[in-house]
Amino acid sequence: MVLKGMKWTLKTAMEREVTRLFPEYMMPLPDAERGIHELDATICIGCGSCARICPNSCIEMVPYKYGNPLKNKKMVFPQIDFGRCMFCGLCVDECPVSCLKMGKKVVLAGWNRKDIIYSPDRIAVKKHTDKEVAELEAEAKRIAAEKKKAAAAAAKEKAAKAKAEGSGAEGEAKKPAAKKAAAEKTSEGGA
Ligand code: SF4
Ligand code: SF4
Repeated sequence: MVLKGMKWTLKTAMEREVTRLFPEYMMPLPDAERGIHELDATICIGCGSCARICPNSCIEMVPYKYGNPLKNKKMVFPQIDFGRCMFCGLCVDECPVSCLKMGKKVVLAGWNRKDIIYSPDRIAVKKHTDKEVAELEAEAKRIAAEKKKAAAAAAKEKAAKAKAEGSGAEGEAKKPAAKKAAAEKTSEGGA
């Protein structure tokens, strides 16, 4: 029995390797490989087109703080459920600002279902720092305040114009009545 076992060991030891050690050895991937998505959070506008086009409803738009509030007003970014994703790439094709790409990482593992739902932070390959976010937020607030001020000034100007036009029209309307009264007065005096 032992000899039989040894014979099998010797036989297989001489054979060509048909399996690879993983993850120690990773086979080279083709250029067209569609792996885990990569997000550039600094240019994502939070439009949600990727989520709408996804045939498997894997993408949910969720809040994330390291994007650009000047471009992404609601500060929502894609979160991807890789338990449903079929790596079709439609979300990437649909992105209007090309901030979502199919990456080259293909290893996906977890102990439970939630482990393979990737938040924006897990797919972000580019994001702003806390300092940059604070500066961008201040800039966004400044622009919003300026717009509000300009809108208030425009409304005030419009109201003043309307008032001026209204009083002008009122004056014009009063003119014939005044003329008539003057004419009547003159005729009375003549009689
Ligand atoms: S690759 Fe396809 S299935 Fe996966 S998130 Fe994008 S659109 Fe959905
Ligand atoms: S990744 Fe692209 S398509 Fe998706 S929300 Fe951001 S800008 Fe829109």
